[in-house]
Amino acid sequence: MNSCTYQDQKNDLSADNTKSSEEVHDAVPITLVIHGGAGNIKKENMTPEHEEAYRAKLEEALMTGYTLLKEGKSAMDAVTATIQVMEKSPLFNAGVGAVFTNQGKNELDASVMDGSTGMAGAVAGVSIIKSPILAARAVMEQSPHVMMSGQGAELFAKEAGLEIVDPSYFFDQRRFEQFEKIKEQQEKKETAYMQTYPDYKFGTVGCVALDAEGNIAAGTSTGGMTNKKYGRIGDSPIIGAGTYADNATCGVSSTGHGEFFIRNVIAYDIAANMKYRNISLEQATREVITRKLTLKGGTGGVIALDKKGNVSITFNTAGMFRGYIKDGSEPEIFMYGN
Ligand code: ASP
Repeated sequence: MNSCTYQDQKNDLSADNTKSSEEVHDAVPITLVIHGGAGNIKKENMTPEHEEAYRAKLEEALMTGYTLLKEGKSAMDAVTATIQVMEKSPLFNAGVGAVFTNQGKNELDASVMDGSTGMAGAVAGVSIIKSPILAARAVMEQSPHVMMSGQGAELFAKEAGLEIVDPSYFFDQRRFEQFEKIKEQQEKKETAYMQTYPDYKFGTVGCVALDAEGNIAAGTSTGGMTNKKYGRIGDSPIIGAGTYADNATCGVSSTGHGEFFIRNVIAYDIAANMKYRNISLEQATREVITRKLTLKGGTGGVIALDKKGNVSITFNTAGMFRGYIKDGSEPEIFMYGN
């Protein structure tokens, strides 16, 4: 089991929950944490070139969001800009390089949540919106709704002035070859769908940020799971499962076998554990991922941060593409287990 916490003793939430928002605000260190998916990510399966490519892209994503936070921009601005960097890269299962459905198509899901207002937006099953994360944000900011799907979401995105592309924009040859292989394996096996998953590499991207105002935002963008059936929607666009943010507790973005994250309301459960049991972010992520999700047979992980800038990254897979940056520090990037 893998769990990393990056917190100062003075920032430990459990130490003093009674500080006024003013005091908290003074102590807020801008912080940004990202993931590029969890799964069977092991050093022996990576070439040095591949490893370097991931490291460079994760660093570019981190620095994009961090620069905005340094300029005083909102956590939501940082989250969407960071995720856009990863959506444009074929290294991840989001935007370009998204995985393929059973019918050989790319159908994308994304969501955002603003921890300062409790507002959220999501799109599901879209295939012509260049940046699904921007569409999720537009749903939140420009509609009275939380989630839109398929052609309706695409029409909405067009009307909102977002960039529309041909579905072939998302195609990546390497990903297509992976799809053909997985499809063949799954068709051969009796318990088809589930059995290939212990070895599966999830490539969803996510970001959680804490800005200088002390506001938390979270977002997640994905192509879903390889060989998913028609119309299947995973956890990534589901508020409370794939994404959650609440200034009072934490922001969370998930990656993993979505059905388990939905059934166990993973992202919200972390925040609820903190709120109702008054436990720290690290304790909450450990309990929810290391205990609950694992006992249920689910695989994957989360990135999370709290209002004091404590970061927790917890996963039960071999590895997870991940990184974080805190005010005044160098970016930290990791891929493999502890
Ligand atoms: N959670 C995503 C889904 O189930 C997959 C992933 O994280 O890569 O759609």
